[in-house]
Amino acid sequence: MKSVPVRIVAEGAGDSARRKVNLLGMDRRALEGFFAELGEKPFRASQILKWVHARRVTDFTAMTDLSRALRARLEDIAEVRVPQPVLDQRSSDGTRKWLLRLDGANAVEAVLIPEPGRDTLCISSQVGCALECSFCSTGAQGFNRNLTSAEIIGQLWFVNGVLAAEEPGRQVTNVVFMGMGEPLLNFRNVMPAAELMKDDHAYGLSKRRVTLSTSGVVPYLQRMAGATDISLAVSLHAPDDELRNELVPINRRYPIARLLEACRQYIADKPHRRITWEYVMLDGVNDSDDHARQLSRLLRDIPSKVNLIPFNPYPGARYRCSSDARIRRFSRILAAAGLVSTTRKTRGDDIDGACGQLVGQVKDRSKRRLRGDASATVQG
Ligand code: SAH
Ligand code: SF4
Repeated sequence: MKSVPVRIVAEGAGDSARRKVNLLGMDRRALEGFFAELGEKPFRASQILKWVHARRVTDFTAMTDLSRALRARLEDIAEVRVPQPVLDQRSSDGTRKWLLRLDGANAVEAVLIPEPGRDTLCISSQVGCALECSFCSTGAQGFNRNLTSAEIIGQLWFVNGVLAAEEPGRQVTNVVFMGMGEPLLNFRNVMPAAELMKDDHAYGLSKRRVTLSTSGVVPYLQRMAGATDISLAVSLHAPDDELRNELVPINRRYPIARLLEACRQYIADKPHRRITWEYVMLDGVNDSDDHARQLSRLLRDIPSKVNLIPFNPYPGARYRCSSDARIRRFSRILAAAGLVSTTRKTRGDDIDGACGQLVGQVKDRSKRRLRGDASATVQG
């Protein structure tokens, strides 16, 4: 493991700067609204998207296709504020992890997984998570706050900058919402960030290259169906309610039958799309032949792919990972029933960069108030 501390840039530019509106997190629709209020035409939104996200320019004075008057006005009322790195780590397998500072008390992690032909960025949507899945170290940290859309897209903005500086032209090719937090419990900020990822004038990623992973917050899955067409991964982890209640407590509120129905609806009007089901392999808990057979029956009529995730341990974890032989057998049973599965390679072990190991920096744990009941966060 190589750990590189980086200089922390001084917090903002004082109170007046803090009151400025941050354009980084605004998608096209939000920017058009912003410029309409300034009496400007909608095409200003495209110009800003190109400058900020494609050309990575944060200084309005350099945005030469805006009139001088508009540049001055923007200087006055707006800013493009980007996250600051606190720590930069590189794993022996090439995986990289950054701790990005959001404010005085909070930081989150973003992980880059380079593979031949693709660079996948795993981003965070919340500081911590309130859902307490029993095998997840983020859940064990508690929940502090939602990220703003600027803080979410800022992770991609930042990592693209690192890649481009190291190798001109290199950019993140795929984004997965599989870092810290439950993205559907921060729907209002995650959706504009996902729109920015897909916008041709910003990052131009195809809907297949942006994947949201959820533990199954059904009301927001239903809303998502009308709001976006990005790819969906669902953390199933168990084929029956009794076991899933234990592993993924939000299942008590939204049991498997309701979850599956919402997933069917999500792909109903999206031809050639399928759901990715995540299934963490826990030794002696959810990895028997019977579990595999039950799982294949459950998913029989849904276009599916199963992603078997070897459990990543962390201090205090109460599980062990299934053996390689068990994972192979599980996968063969699924295949015999016609269910495609892949086994995720564990990456970034030596920097705690793998799924469920991200802990960021969650200082204030007092806001955890959702034990076994997500109703308080299902709103808006
Ligand atoms: N909250 C979302 C997305 C973040 S977690 C969700 O739960 O889907 C991304 C994936 O990592 C999920 O499938 C999650 O269940 C899995 N995960 C969590 N902890 C893990 C661990 N210790 N080992 C392996 N996978 C884990
Ligand atoms: Fe939250 Fe996902 Fe971890 Fe569950 S697995 S505690 S939903 S981050």
